[in-house]
Amino acid sequence: MTVHFPFQNSYSALPDSFFARVAPTPVAAPRLIKLNRPLAVQLGLDPDMLETPEGAEILAGKTVPDGADPIAMAYAGHQFGQFVPQLGDGRAILLGEVIDRDGVRRDIQLKGSGPTPFSRRGDGRAALGPVLREYIVSEAMYALGIPTTRSLAAVVTGEHVIRETALPGAVLTRVAASHIRVGTFQFFAVRRDTDAIRRLADHVIARHYPELLGTERPYHALLAGVVARQAELVARWLLVGFIHGVMNTDNSSISGETIDYGPCAFMDAYNPAQVFSSIDEMGRYAYANQPRIALWNLTRLAECLLPLFGEEQEKAVEQAQDILSAFPETFSKAYQAGLRKKVGLFTERDGDEALIQDLLDAMAKNQADFTLTFRRLGDAAGDPAADDARAEFMDPAAFDEWARRWRERLAAEPQSAAERQTAMNAVNPLFIPRNHRVEAVIQAAVNDDNYALFEELVKVLAKPYEDQPDYAAYADPPLPDQRVLQTFCGT
Ligand code: AMP
Ligand code: MG
Repeated sequence: MTVHFPFQNSYSALPDSFFARVAPTPVAAPRLIKLNRPLAVQLGLDPDMLETPEGAEILAGKTVPDGADPIAMAYAGHQFGQFVPQLGDGRAILLGEVIDRDGVRRDIQLKGSGPTPFSRRGDGRAALGPVLREYIVSEAMYALGIPTTRSLAAVVTGEHVIRETALPGAVLTRVAASHIRVGTFQFFAVRRDTDAIRRLADHVIARHYPELLGTERPYHALLAGVVARQAELVARWLLVGFIHGVMNTDNSSISGETIDYGPCAFMDAYNPAQVFSSIDEMGRYAYANQPRIALWNLTRLAECLLPLFGEEQEKAVEQAQDILSAFPETFSKAYQAGLRKKVGLFTERDGDEALIQDLLDAMAKNQADFTLTFRRLGDAAGDPAADDARAEFMDPAAFDEWARRWRERLAAEPQSAAERQTAMNAVNPLFIPRNHRVEAVIQAAVNDDNYALFEELVKVLAKPYEDQPDYAAYADPPLPDQRVLQTFCGT
């Protein structure tokens, strides 16, 4: 028996300029530390086979499975606003695509599997810490119901990678609807290769927006589709307190998935200006800036698509602007609808937006924990005597004052208290990947080769909306001395 991947590769059939053919670099002593068994099954793979030594060799890039057509994808990108005409997969290799149980084509990519022609000065490797962080956070996002790439496996390579110090090397197997980014379009746009832009757009439409096939203006509709998905995605991020950290155009997925978990983090206390990433000195990618940045990235995508919009450039620009102008409303609709659900409203009334904004303002002023405030609000909806939410506020009276208005508003709706609490608990998670927990997992793995904490955290985060009394401590915010103030790319 060998490990079988039912590959059906479409990206590597595109023109040569789209990628570089390159095999992963064999590593010394691969050891599987985590296989996502349910995801393996979803992808039509045999989890038992993946757990054999041969499986670990494949997931470490030591052996290339039959049917794989390993490539590094070409892309460009704006990094913190600065355009770089060539980035590309410098430490990731796409093995190929499989069709999952739902009929969806999924990329299977090794991240950290050795240098490629796009590595520039990098070593093509990944350290264990960032691999675990991506595994934990991407799977948490999936469990929260937010579009995201996923993690099939993590292996340690038995080799060290040199960062500030020598660290254990690791490879993450990433699964994505595709790895096509805004930066992929930019790669061809800066080279004025309109044929390639059209080929890429056609590929993307067939793969991610098949409903647009055969429509009258498919490229306009494609831009509108990406705008809508990104607007909804960023709204979902804000509703759970997620900060991506590096929203460069090369980290902005055309399919609308969250991609590239670097210095990402969930905030504890609500603070719209929150930044964790050590390299984001200007706060460009701060929590509340994310919608604006998504639109900025989409504007870069629109520029790439202009040559497909017709001969008359002036008209094309106008059409693009028109499509982009839908972003604020789509975002705001998704965000406001999500917020209404978070506070337990079933209907929409004048004044709701202001009522909710007043809560957010009070939370910011009182350093209320974002996740727990909303979760405890659900308890308070279920039982008026439950007053844990107020304890999240430095000045609990600020909550009391708001809660009086909130209860008045709830009284205008016929739903029972129990019904409301159930609905609220389904949108307000109790468990998120808190930074201090993620750091503790990484420390145990890197320093002691101990994965017990990792396993436990992954398990708890798989059911973010369920009360899990045995793991109640995982819901707690950090104590002052546990607070993580900065996160790092670790590349
Ligand atoms: P990221 O910050 O992970 O989105 O990566 C930005 C760019 O740097 C991409 O082109 C990556 O492929 C490249 N890169 C990041 N880390 C490495 C590395 N260790 N070796 C080679 N290239 C890398
Ligand atoms: Mg990236």
